[in-house]
Amino acid sequence: MRAIRRFTVRTVLPPELASLSELVLNLRWSWHPETLDLFAEVDPATWERVGQDPVAMLGAVEAGRLRELAADRRFLRRLADAADDLREYMTAPRWYQTISDAPKGIAYFSPEYGIASALPQYSGGLGILAGDHLKAASDLGVPILAVGLLYRHGYFTQSLSPEGWQLEHYPSLDPGGLPLSLLKGEDGEPVRVTIGLPEQRALHAQVWVAQVGRVPLLLLDSDVSENDVAARDVTDRLYGGGTDHRLMQELLLGVGGVRAIRAYCEVSGHAAPEVFHTNEGHAGFLGLERIRELTEARLSFDEALEAVRAGTVFTTHTPVPAGIDRFPAEMIGRQFGGDNAWPTVPVDRILALGAEDEPGKFNMAAMGMRLAQRVNGVSELHGAVSREMFQGLWPGFDIDEIPIGSITNGVHAPTWVGREIMELAGRELPTLVERAQGWESVNKISDADVWSIRGRLRKRLVEAARLRLRQSWINRGASPPELNWIDDALDPDVLTIGFARRVPSYKRLTLMLADADRLRSLLLDPDKPIQIVIAGKAHPADEGGKKLIQQIVKFADSEDVRHRIIFLPDYDMALGQLLVQGCDVWLNNPLRPLEACGTSGMKAALNGGLNLSIRDGWWDEWYDGTNGWSIPTADGVTDPDRRDELEATALYDLIEHEVADRFYDRTDGLPRRWLEMVRHTLTTLGPKVLAGRMLRDYVVDLYAPAARSARVLSSDTYEQAKSFASWKLRVGRAWPGVRVEHVEASGLGDTPELGASLELKATIALGELEPGDVRVQAAYGRVGLHDDLVTPTYSDLAVEADGDDGRAVFSGVVPLDRTGSFGYTVRVVPNHPLVASASELGLIAVPEEPAGMTNGTLR
Ligand SMILES: *Cc1c(COP(=O)(O)O)cnc(C)c1O
Repeated sequence: MRAIRRFTVRTVLPPELASLSELVLNLRWSWHPETLDLFAEVDPATWERVGQDPVAMLGAVEAGRLRELAADRRFLRRLADAADDLREYMTAPRWYQTISDAPKGIAYFSPEYGIASALPQYSGGLGILAGDHLKAASDLGVPILAVGLLYRHGYFTQSLSPEGWQLEHYPSLDPGGLPLSLLKGEDGEPVRVTIGLPEQRALHAQVWVAQVGRVPLLLLDSDVSENDVAARDVTDRLYGGGTDHRLMQELLLGVGGVRAIRAYCEVSGHAAPEVFHTNEGHAGFLGLERIRELTEARLSFDEALEAVRAGTVFTTHTPVPAGIDRFPAEMIGRQFGGDNAWPTVPVDRILALGAEDEPGKFNMAAMGMRLAQRVNGVSELHGAVSREMFQGLWPGFDIDEIPIGSITNGVHAPTWVGREIMELAGRELPTLVERAQGWESVNKISDADVWSIRGRLRKRLVEAARLRLRQSWINRGASPPELNWIDDALDPDVLTIGFARRVPSYKRLTLMLADADRLRSLLLDPDKPIQIVIAGKAHPADEGGKKLIQQIVKFADSEDVRHRIIFLPDYDMALGQLLVQGCDVWLNNPLRPLEACGTSGMKAALNGGLNLSIRDGWWDEWYDGTNGWSIPTADGVTDPDRRDELEATALYDLIEHEVADRFYDRTDGLPRRWLEMVRHTLTTLGPKVLAGRMLRDYVVDLYAPAARSARVLSSDTYEQAKSFASWKLRVGRAWPGVRVEHVEASGLGDTPELGASLELKATIALGELEPGDVRVQAAYGRVGLHDDLVTPTYSDLAVEADGDDGRAVFSGVVPLDRTGSFGYTVRVVPNHPLVASASELGLIAVPEEPAGMTNGTLR
């Protein structure tokens, strides 16, 4: 018989142990080993049995044991210390409290969060990044208030069929069995968030609060009795269901998320966020909800749009057009129009925000960029790829001026760095991992110590991998006597390569199989063998990905290599930690440039692992020739099979001639040259790959400027928003009348020389505009083959004369500051103190014919 409903009955703790539940309910334990030690001490056997999940342990521990602990003075002292430490952590001033004028609150929206294995609300990098973002924010005291959804079945857990086919299981999660508390209003009743749907339906949700250190994470949950069956299932699983289901989830996340924040701030007294950050397009509807709030407070749509844009940050994560989140426009029209329309927000304005090249489509990334004044990609290369991909939204502007910047991702060291490494430097490293300075102290640790820690981490991986491998074979139907070989699977002294990631085709899980015989001989090399540990989940709807997994599993099943290459099912945070800590080499071979950033290699680097990777994402930026290896890419080769073959061959060559050589080259039993690379990796990459560095970048480059803009626009009851919006409308209408009529250059002579300068005078037709509404700029620098200016420099020209005829003359001086081909032109862009970039309005005027002289050669 199946239960119709399940729930978890929580233990009633003796009063002496009350602070234990405080510790359990704050997820800081997921990156605080001392707290985990304390939990283990409650009941060591139960702790291991429940997979080190503190909530599960409190549910499972015998009442007698709790009574015993309540009388154990030593335990109570430790408990009091831990509770004090947490309170201190929650309130002490941190880095953020030292910067002035910072936003009082930042709302962070993401469809998934990877905080701990015990809260399986993530599928891959996007969620893990969001989790690391919150943890680093907590450590630095950044006042983030995060929003997501609570998926009743989370993401699937993975096992294998006897044939090596991925099987998916959706565990039923009971919020009562998770480290969450229900958000209640002042009346003591659970808070309800409600969103109107077409045809008089409604979607209701309750709100769970997960406390991630100092950061509250609000998770909306539609499994409530007021909902009809379809509405209850909205938050059933992560990335499951069709388009309709996805729209419901995104409405709940974006619109519902803002409402949850308002309710939370009201009951908790938390400061209202000044900045809203949307991690990928899925939460983009939050901007519409904020426009609704402001229009109901009597701003016009355009005024509200400006006020909202100023305080919104949008981070894009996909470099593939096919990966962008889109809906049929009519679906959006139905949701936000007809009898479900918001009276103050016209549906056609909403549709225009998501418009893209293909008519009838509503593009969440396009809306994200129109609703956010500040947009970024997640590595330098990804920023460049995004500028190209979204160039069409800013017609007329060069790629370099597309207003999409980048902040390279980072990882949260206390979550990912092995305890042995933390302890290696005694007291030094635990504080080090949070800081950008002091990493040179790694050099004080002896080679022998570094090598012995690496050996311990590798051994731990080998032992845990054997247990997991055995379990996987048993699940696949093998009987224990057939599995004796597993006792010797993997070798704690062999060079260990890790490959773990989701399995979309661009990540090329099976590239290593391109020449199976070559791989086999690397694995079985008598002197310099390698071993490979692989993990990864394919999206449930991705048959192609499942085929790739099957190919790898079949190869790893072969009797001759099965002790040297293994696939471990169910890649999650716990397995990820084991792998990034235990592997000597972290392999990544995506199809460049499709990996936006990639973060698992950063985790490996922090543990003294070396990266062996295609130069994509973060590795393109920070590979320096000696901190790992770059697999040459065959970027220009268009035949995909040929490209795979070339890159695979390069990979085998690197492993054989560089990686394995170095690993097995020993002096006094130590691989000195290898350890040199490990040290170099830790000292140079260590400080860069930290989530703390990433957070500081977000605060300084995006959150603080966004808050400043938002404050200006909202001051004097939105007076500035009103005038900025009306200025934009006026400039937009008048722009067709703006022309560069004439450009004159003087001072050049016959043979231009370096150091000379050029005087420019430009006559500009302004139509209805004033000279102050525009910026007239000289653009100059190197010219390419087709007279195109290559990454030009811009300098403003000043108004020289303002005629009555709608024309004005602007002038200025251009230095001839480089030899070789040199060119210049003039352009006009809108000018207002509140625009964040020249391209923001997408308006530009350039000479119809190339200006006076476009190209001279300097000597
Ligand atoms: C770090 C991590 C990821 C993301 O890694 P990529 O290198 O971006 O693929 C995905 N899943 C888990 C479990 C992780 O720990």
